Order: sequence, then C-alpha cells, then structure tokens
Amino acid sequence: MAKVLVTGATGFIAGHTILALLEAGHEVQGMARSADKADRLNATLSDYAGKPVSIRIIAADLMSDDGWGEAVAGCDYVQHLASPLPAKLPRNDDELIIPAREGALRALRFARAEGVKRVVMTSSMASIGYGWRPGERPDPLTEEHWSNPDYKPDNTGYTRSKAIAERAAWDYIEGEGAGMELACINPVLVLGPVMSRDFSASVEAVTQLMQGKIPATPKIGFQLVDVRDVADAHVAAMELPEAAGERFILADDFLWYREVADILRQAYPEYSRKLPKGELPDFLVRGMALLNKAPEADSAALRLGLNRASFTRAERLAERARLHIGDPGDHDEAVAVFT
Ligand code: NAP
Repeated sequence: MAKVLVTGATGFIAGHTILALLEAGHEVQGMARSADKADRLNATLSDYAGKPVSIRIIAADLMSDDGWGEAVAGCDYVQHLASPLPAKLPRNDDELIIPAREGALRALRFARAEGVKRVVMTSSMASIGYGWRPGERPDPLTEEHWSNPDYKPDNTGYTRSKAIAERAAWDYIEGEGAGMELACINPVLVLGPVMSRDFSASVEAVTQLMQGKIPATPKIGFQLVDVRDVADAHVAAMELPEAAGERFILADDFLWYREVADILRQAYPEYSRKLPKGELPDFLVRGMALLNKAPEADSAALRLGLNRASFTRAERLAERARLHIGDPGDHDEAVAVFT
C-alpha cells in the first residue's frame, strides 16, 4: 500500500482515479483549490461507490506554492491531474498554458523535495496529435510523436497548454529529476459516468447533443476512451515498474459525431427529439470556421478527417494490468452510461 496525492481531486477523471486507487488498497489524499470542497467531494465519491469514502483534501492552486508542501507530505506517489480544461477557450492561450506548465513543474518540484518515487501526469492526446502541418500528420500517431504547439492553425489554447506542460515535465525530469520517475497518460476524449452535475468540459460533447444545442452534427469524429479505463491506467502507470519513463496513449474506437448521437438515441429514447438526425456538410463546417473566429470552430474544421491513433503501448500496459482498453464495443458504453 502506498500513500498517493491526487491533484485536481474535484475533477471528472480524478474522481474515478481516486476510487480506483482506493480499490487497489492505496491511501489517498487530494489537492483541490479549496479545502471547503472536501465534504461535498467525499459525499459524491461515497454515493457513486455505494460505500463511505473519506479522503483528506488539502487546498493548493497550480499558480502558487501555498499548500503544496502539506499536500505532498508523506506521499510515495503523485497523480497529477489538475490542469485547466474550460468549456469555453479564452482568447489568450496563456490563461491555460501558464497554469498547466507552472502547475506541472510545481507538482514535480514539491514531489522531488518530498522524495516521491514516481509522478503520473495526466497529459493528453493533445500533446501528440496537434500542430501538424497539412499532409504531415503521421498515420498512425504513436507515443513517439509530439504535437508542435507553435503551429497555431492546428491547435487550440488547450492543446498547446497540454503539449507545453508535458514537454516541460519531461525536461524537468531529465535535468533536475534526481532519479524521480515520470509516466504520462495521454487519453483522447474521455467519456463515461459523471459523478455529479459539476462535470468536465469533455462531457459537453454529449450534454450539448442531449440538450438540443446541436441541430445537425458537423462531420467530425472523435476517438473515445472510457473514464474507468483511464482511471485504471493511472493506477497501472503508478504501480508497474516498466511504466516509468513512458507515455501511454489511451484510445478506444473512433466514432463520428453522428454515431454518438445515434448511440444516445438508442440509450435514451426520451431525448430523441433533441438529438440531431442530420449531418452538416464539410464545406459548411469549413465556411463556419472562417466566419466564426472562435478557436474551437477553427480547430474542429481543421481536424476533419483526423487520423486514428495507435494504442499499442497502452494495450500492453492494459494486458499487464488486466484492463480492457481497446475492446471492441466499449465505446458504446462509454457514451451511453452518461448519468
Ligand atoms: P475537470 O473535471 O475539469 O478537472 C480538472 C481539474 O483541474 C479540476 O479539479 C480543477 O479544479 C483543477 N484545476 C484547474 N485549474 C486549476 C488551478 N489553477 N489550480 C488547481 N486546480 C485546478 O477535467 P478532467 O476531464 O477530469 O481532466 C483531468 C485531466 O485530464 C486534465 O489534466 C485534462 O487536461 C486531462 N485530460 C482530459 C481529457 C478529457 O477528455 N476529459 C482528455 C485528455 C486529458 P476545480 O474543480 O477547482 O475547477
């Protein structure tokens, strides 16, 4: 049994990771922006788990040293999940890049000072599959590839923040890590059961459809991964010796947005009238991106026809840890179990 700090403990993936760590027999403490969130978080975790959960929450922010020493005290491992993931992208990318990078470096610095053995950092496919010039994106993408955050037409502030933060983390480990280990988890779009109404922006891919906010689906697609598999992968990347120094793409099947709507229609017939049946033609999506300078629209259009990533290394990790990343059919459940 190890003592583990989970940063961003209030988050969507963090909730599942905390439960997976507890299930594996570890002691968990959480870092959140406010310790006042502890009671509500423990109540939410207990409701979802169907048994009492009570973890200690220490207040700390990605942008300040305050609280980090206490948060990491006595911990063997740090699971660093905190990073800004806003529903609406800010105009200034630095609002995401600075907390993501400074927060990652802060987590690593305090972890090293405490003698932590390994930090598992939740990076993203955003650090791998973006910033490729037209025609240059490798197929398949693997863990050897890196996004180029400087090529802005194929990036958003969020994708840049993840690539810059992950790169800074590996540079830190190489230069100043003094033997501390790092493993990075690089999921694609994460869906699955939400534990409370306070959910991650990623779940909006589903909620916006169910709320009738998308009258016709643009011809875009996503690779999806189930949040419970992502949580299990965090535990495996912490426990398995061979995970040190590795990145792990977590990706299940590719679905067109139209297919997500179809899965929801079957699972939730009562939402049928809100769910879009038609698909926007590509030329319209590109046209909207030109007219609407919102960064989300730009990047959605540019990613039309995004290549599938490979998930070979994550599969190997999954095999060792008896996970089921990449099983055919999982994606239906990941979308449909939205509660
Ligand atoms: P989430 O629910 O929004 O969780 C993000 C967490 O980060 C929240 O607990 C949030 O705290 C915390 N945070 C944000 N800014 C902070 C700051 N300045 N100081 C301290 N904490 C801060 O999102 P999620 O989906 O679980 O994401 C967790 C991690 O997975 C992130 O690193 C994200 O980039 C990565 N990821 C997510 C997906 C996906 O599809 N969801 C895919 C790939 C990677 P508050 O509750 O106080 O806001």
